Amino acid sequence: RSEDEQTEDYLFKIVLIGDSAVGKSNLLARFARDEFYPNSKSTIGVEFQTQKMDINGKEVKAQIWDTAGQERFRAVTSAYYRGAVGALLVYDISRRQTFDSVGRWLNELHTHSDMNVVTILVGNKSDLKDAREVTVAEAKALAEAQGLFFMETSALDSSNVVAAFRTVVEEIYRILS
Ligand code: GDP
Ligand code: MG
Repeated sequence: RSEDEQTEDYLFKIVLIGDSAVGKSNLLARFARDEFYPNSKSTIGVEFQTQKMDINGKEVKAQIWDTAGQERFRAVTSAYYRGAVGALLVYDISRRQTFDSVGRWLNELHTHSDMNVVTILVGNKSDLKDAREVTVAEAKALAEAQGLFFMETSALDSSNVVAAFRTVVEEIYRILS
């Protein structure tokens, strides 16, 4: 069949959550546009960005939602979560405080969306090795206890960025197909 006859079979809404300045917008910029902003402000946040992915030969569209900085005021609304089937819960490995917030974000996620939303815990800024405040072991333990996938990423050097998004999308696909 021809290109334009090909239907889009899957559209998955995925939300980025986590404390301010952990790198959510840059993870999305790196994933969707292969860009990085060294001094990004919350203004670079788009409402959402749609990324086509090939999963098992099927075209899957990941509609990835980013905050416009409202997480700073703990004012992420229920509309943001509505219909989400996946989530990347991001903390900054160089700021312990952002890891301590993970439980609160999980509560919020489960309050506003389905309990079964596929979630990956993402320790971003893995390039900042010398400033590390959260070990891989404790993050893994938390992820295991909460039934989350886990990966460390760097939006700066690109490591694991595609893998983190793919992990969520592949699992959603596996569940729904
Ligand atoms: P958000 O508030 O969670 O969306 O965070 P941003 O994406 O706006 O990033 C906050 C700051 O962290 C910016 O100055 C980014 O350049 C920086 N940043 C984001 N990701 C990384 C990363 O992987 N490594 C390093 N070193 N800095 C990053
Ligand atoms: Mg942002």
